[in-house]
Amino acid sequence: MGVTSPGTAISPSHVAASAVPEPAVPFWEIETVRAKEFIPPVREALRDVVARKGSDPVIQPVFNWAGRNSLFPLHWGLACCAIEFAAAFGARWDAERFGIVPRSSPRQCDLMIVNGTVTWKVAHKLITLYEQMPEPKWVIAMGNCATGGGPFRSAYSVVPGVDKLVPVDVYIAGCPPRPEAMLDGILRLERLIQDRRE
Ligand code: SF4
Repeated sequence: MGVTSPGTAISPSHVAASAVPEPAVPFWEIETVRAKEFIPPVREALRDVVARKGSDPVIQPVFNWAGRNSLFPLHWGLACCAIEFAAAFGARWDAERFGIVPRSSPRQCDLMIVNGTVTWKVAHKLITLYEQMPEPKWVIAMGNCATGGGPFRSAYSVVPGVDKLVPVDVYIAGCPPRPEAMLDGILRLERLIQDRRE
């Protein structure tokens, strides 16, 4: 407690309030003004770029080049193929040297690698994750289970191929496919993205 003169006491909260004066305009209002000035022109510029992207022979290859070299797969695993997926990002295979960086939020991902047995119980979760990913997005079915049900194809609980749930761009055979096979599948997808014309 601060004391200025005998009998006059100043509380700590009073000192703090007088030391930091209130700004003339509250901070949140400054941010709102900034957002109002900044967001509409950027949105207009991006809308223009995206509208021209479909037909522009210069912009589209740049979009494709950027997309193919910065794939963000969803960071998740379903079954034993997920171990190979994880190994591909270790020091030996180092998938990140191709610009492939797993992200844990589907909202930041453009690639879903289905790496294991898909059961009907998890099917609606898989579809939700896929729908949360922004466009453009791609799907790789990694291993025999994701491709067609694998050794569990006739089981009542197993989806006989993830293409029954979401569109698949690349299939990788194997039970399990090795990390090299997964990287080969991703490089095939990169070639598809490079040749994209939509
Ligand atoms: S394909 Fe083979 S290794 Fe991969 S999830 Fe199915 S059973 Fe496991």
